[in-house]
Amino acid sequence: MDLHDSAAHKAFREDVRAFLTEHGAEAPIETAMSYRLLPKPYSLQVRAWQQLLVERGYANRTIPKEYGGFGAEPDILKSRIIADEFFAADIPQGLISQGISMLMPTLLEHGTEEQKQQWIRPTLQGDVFWCQGYSEPGAGSDLASLTTHAVEDGDDFVINGQKIWTSSAHIAQMIFCLVRTEPEASKYAGISYLIFSMDTPGIDVRPLQTMTGHPSFNEVFFTDVRVPKSQVVGGRGKGWTVANSTLKHERGMLSNANGSLDRLNRIQALMMRETVAGETLMHNPVMCDRFIALQARVQSMRLHEMRLISAAQKGEGPGLGDMVCKLLGCELNHQLDALAIDAFGELGVFYDGIPSMQSDGIWQQLYMYDLGLIIGGGTAQIQKNIIAERGLGMPREPKAVQV
Ligand SMILES: Cc1cc2nc3c(=O)[nH]c(=O)nc-3n(C[C@H](O)[C@H](O)[C@H](O)COP(=O)(O)OP(=O)(O)OC[C@H]3O[C@@H](n4cnc5c(N)ncnc54)[C@H](O)[C@@H]3O)c2cc1C
Repeated sequence: MDLHDSAAHKAFREDVRAFLTEHGAEAPIETAMSYRLLPKPYSLQVRAWQQLLVERGYANRTIPKEYGGFGAEPDILKSRIIADEFFAADIPQGLISQGISMLMPTLLEHGTEEQKQQWIRPTLQGDVFWCQGYSEPGAGSDLASLTTHAVEDGDDFVINGQKIWTSSAHIAQMIFCLVRTEPEASKYAGISYLIFSMDTPGIDVRPLQTMTGHPSFNEVFFTDVRVPKSQVVGGRGKGWTVANSTLKHERGMLSNANGSLDRLNRIQALMMRETVAGETLMHNPVMCDRFIALQARVQSMRLHEMRLISAAQKGEGPGLGDMVCKLLGCELNHQLDALAIDAFGELGVFYDGIPSMQSDGIWQQLYMYDLGLIIGGGTAQIQKNIIAERGLGMPREPKAVQV
């Protein structure tokens, strides 16, 4: 694996740096993280920044021109250079959201031409906010057990049922939603993937408070919700395949090594600053030991990502490599947050609204939020089962017996 830039990549890196020097000051103050902790509609400045990045090819650069993108050829090293340079300059990259990071690539893979024309451009530009209607009270890890159903009536489907843990449903304009359209078919064959407006009559959204203390996800109830049949993505009854495509992109969204390195760098500064008995925390053997152990894991995440990039350059798929990233990356972030809280000593136990709290309590909120990400998008236990069975060839888990 040669990690040096080729001449072309070196020139590209210089272009990215020049862009950041010229336009960095236009970047919004809000970070991607503040949107994730407390979802809200995008501000004008956030959308303007996103639109500039799309126009210059620094956000979702491979989206075809006819759908509002930059239309670059896939070049994983260039994407990596952009990520590294924005990260090094501490300037926010393009938006990360369920619409942009999960639905858009799914539509490119499975959507009709009309769906792509209608939805990709406004989603990419941050003008339309989406939520994901997958989980139900009786269908989480075993997602295919979902019971929300859609019955054909003329040109429409009529939906009845309930979703739960629907992040950002209270601010979303659109939903991508799994419903059962063929009750007679087998569990996996009878599902369809529908997209529709959250303003459709019959939708009732009830916010749920998360461990962060903020209402970031919801229960969503559907009573006789009418959706045109043309809004099925990937074909009627083919929703399981489409849903898995979205899940693959969700795993990619939930963990990345730069995000972990950013946390690590901030903790390093914190531990060089905070003192106990006249010495910095970095000189405290127990804290320093914890820091170094996590530093090694962040480094191994970066190397693992580079290995996947090298494989992709050779035309090889990630195998279960992206699942390993989701599993280890989400757990790692949570452990980094825990180290930051411990570095604050007794102030680390404070939460929201206490004047003496450090860094506006962001680490305490991240600690609560990142615990959720070990569950969201497929729990750690489920990821381990899949890696063990499909990756390591271990015996399959026994099927639950119905009584
Ligand atoms: C922060 C957050 C955001 C979310 N956002 C969304 C969203 O926007 N849209 C959406 O649709 N859903 C969302 N979810 C829901 C998420 O996808 C589910 O919570 C997840 O799939 C687990 O399902 P469950 O909560 O029903 O837990 P269950 O499936 O009931 O699992 C409970 C426990 O049992 C374990 N378990 C279950 N089956 C097995 C098994 N076979 N082997 C070993 N252990 C097992 C699980 O690992 C878990 O620890 C979100 C969740 C979180 C935490």
